[in-house]
Amino acid sequence: MLVAHMSSDAPPTVVRPIPGDARIIDMHVHIVGDGSGGSGCWLRPSPARLPFAALMARHVGLSPTVLRGQLDRLYVERLLRLVRESSLDAAVILAQEQVHDDQGRVIEGAGSFHVPNDYVLKLARQYPEFLPAISIHPARPDALEELDRCLAEGAVMLKILPNCQNIDCCDRRYTRFWERMAESGLPLLAHTGGELTLPVVRPKFADPQRLTLPLECGVTVIAAHCATKSALFDPQYFPVFAKMTRVYPRLYGDISAFHVQNNRIRGDIVTRCLEAPVRERLVHGSDFPVGVFGHWAWLKGHLDWRTFRRWQRHPNVLERDYQFKRAMGFPDETFTRVNRLLRFSPSAMKANPYRRPEVPLP
Ligand SMILES: [Zn+2]
Repeated sequence: MLVAHMSSDAPPTVVRPIPGDARIIDMHVHIVGDGSGGSGCWLRPSPARLPFAALMARHVGLSPTVLRGQLDRLYVERLLRLVRESSLDAAVILAQEQVHDDQGRVIEGAGSFHVPNDYVLKLARQYPEFLPAISIHPARPDALEELDRCLAEGAVMLKILPNCQNIDCCDRRYTRFWERMAESGLPLLAHTGGELTLPVVRPKFADPQRLTLPLECGVTVIAAHCATKSALFDPQYFPVFAKMTRVYPRLYGDISAFHVQNNRIRGDIVTRCLEAPVRERLVHGSDFPVGVFGHWAWLKGHLDWRTFRRWQRHPNVLERDYQFKRAMGFPDETFTRVNRLLRFSPSAMKANPYRRPEVPLP
């Protein structure tokens, strides 16, 4: 048991250790909002992507009318319910930074949605099922102050999309930022590979080799989607990612959005993901609210017909994604490994004292 002294005159606060590494966590879950509940979020899908956004809403069990108001509240209620009614113990919810230029100024009109750090931090304080991942462009003049502020508030991870947010992770000016993350034990989740859902501003930043500077600074880095391609003509960076895992012991990959389309499970990608050494570096994420369709996995023989039919009809997309991946042969550790990677400091635990309900408190 840890004892944290919060201030010299206050009685010591007893902080119970997070129980084991056994929680089943979906570490890649997006928060979306329209600011209707005071979240500070905004959502501006391009006219071409609007039908896609409506389909996504329907897919996760929301009426497409949520896009015309009340999205803040209805989205969180729905997500919370899905987590509570699934096999998951918790979900890491992601803030979404705005697009900045190289001088750290917001590029007005760029990007299609924004989720402030304060909103995910607040949701995590409210609901123990949620663990907060912040998002900061390291070129921001206040990047380090914002990082420290969010660390004190209990951030467990930092998420960026280098190709969509214009972040060159190898820019030497960001060295101090990565070092501060490494010192504080905050892991980095970085989008790798092509991106279909959001506008891409710097396609070459999708290459996982762009993550070498944070890795060399000692940051634990999780390459989202294991750098697999998204659209048909994207470069396939999965072999680059797989090779990098042999060089960088702190490099991991998430298996999020593997069930949305053929491109992520084509070729021998799933087979290679199920083999050592890549298998030991994988963590489970869904990329909610991105769709979960087992059709390709079934057609490629990764799922049998009965499993596919049973879970494809299941209304809980988080559970469906989890069950598909289990049936495809991802070992148990894939779903719990992230417990060891997330930052659970005493202050993080105080801000977010999540417990498995079945574990008796000491
Ligand atoms: Zn995502």
